[in-house]
Amino acid sequence: MPKIRKVLVANRGEIAIRVMRTCKELGIATVAVYSEADRAALHVRTADQAIFVGPPPSRESYLVQQRILDAAKAAGADAIHPGYGFLSENASFVRACEAAGITFIGPPASAMDAMGEKTRARANMIKAGVPVVPGTTEPIATEAEAREYAQKIGFPIMLKAAGGGGGKGMRRVEGLGDFESAWRSAKSEALNAFGNDAVYIEKYLEKPHHVEIQVFADTHGNVIHLNERECSAQRRHQKVVEETPSPILTPELRSKMGEVAVKAAKAVNYVGAGTVEFLVDVHRNFYFLEMNTRLQVEHPVTEWVTGLDLVALQIKVAEGEKLPLLQAPEPQGHSIEVRVYAEDPSRNFMPSPGKITYLRVPGGPNVRDDSGVFPGYTVPNVYDPMISKLSVWAPTRREAIARAQRALSEYVVKGITTNIRYLRAILAHPEFVEGDYDTGFLGREHTTLQ
Ligand code: ADP
Repeated sequence: MPKIRKVLVANRGEIAIRVMRTCKELGIATVAVYSEADRAALHVRTADQAIFVGPPPSRESYLVQQRILDAAKAAGADAIHPGYGFLSENASFVRACEAAGITFIGPPASAMDAMGEKTRARANMIKAGVPVVPGTTEPIATEAEAREYAQKIGFPIMLKAAGGGGGKGMRRVEGLGDFESAWRSAKSEALNAFGNDAVYIEKYLEKPHHVEIQVFADTHGNVIHLNERECSAQRRHQKVVEETPSPILTPELRSKMGEVAVKAAKAVNYVGAGTVEFLVDVHRNFYFLEMNTRLQVEHPVTEWVTGLDLVALQIKVAEGEKLPLLQAPEPQGHSIEVRVYAEDPSRNFMPSPGKITYLRVPGGPNVRDDSGVFPGYTVPNVYDPMISKLSVWAPTRREAIARAQRALSEYVVKGITTNIRYLRAILAHPEFVEGDYDTGFLGREHTTLQ
């Protein structure tokens, strides 16, 4: 496969900039795309070239495959990096890129198909001998059938959208009493968010940890893992703080989960960067949750402790190169990432778009701020309100927490409300400091963290 010379980044915000930074270091030209709402956005200024793709709603711009492909052709880009979200897990887009002779920097469409729908992924994983969260491998047709199955595996259960993502279309059900309303709301939320109301059932695991394994595969059949990320600090099933190593993993469990993640990737002939997500229960049994077939938001913590540039690796793999390492590197030190949002924790985390009148970004040793904003920038109200990911590295977890706190204390954003104080409260909370926090932690401590 030929060297990539020009990459169109089919995304916006911090991730578009993060991808472009690596491209520049590799001597690869960059092309941004932007909607009407993003004319003045930082990713547009960062790229060598920028192409307009439509009105503010992403359905009319960033998600329109033909517009993105036309932009790539017009710019003479030989590859497209999708970032995360938008078209990053869209198999039909991968096929369209292939048909247009443009390299998609990501896995093949067939691997996305195999892991796309949660029910299909679960069936594939069972076939491959990967432990999955107990539940169904097919969407459930009627509420009556769902009730029957729920009684069979025992409450509590989780109703989940087969086409789900972003924590949407998920309902915990305690018993038959609240079944009907949960069934109805899970289905309608799924239909709204994903255009697909298929719902299935998983056993609800009590107090689990979300631990995910970064995997990487090349086109020569090599598949490795790059250790785990602990992502149990979640609000409404969405990650807020991530760290690596996981404070609850022993070296044995790490290598066992790593092996299973590699097995999962091999089973679907995976290529590129991917993440196999697991739930770990109180007995430290682990179960496949889903695979994200793209670069994750939280990839910087893995970069900190491995010294690797995951975007550079993605590009090398897309160029047909072999992976430069054939086994998991020992994690060096500790890394923590916090997601900085333009939102108001005291008003139920309502997004707070608007103009940033003053901005001071933290610095100092081993601090990284992946941001998509600048002073004077107006955070639009049409996209995800995450404005930055602050990540730090230190030799130990204790020092990493102290460094993250120090960095957050330097972070000043005026003109809009952010969750910075909330993030500091999480890092200071005894349960977080102790290191054994499950996915219910932020929900339980909601009021003390305000
Ligand atoms: P999404 O694709 O929407 O992110 P996931 O399947 O990855 O959904 O789950 C997101 C989070 O929801 C998990 O990290 C976990 O906190 C919670 N969750 C999902 N399924 C279960 C389950 N069966 N039991 C307990 N918690 C769950």
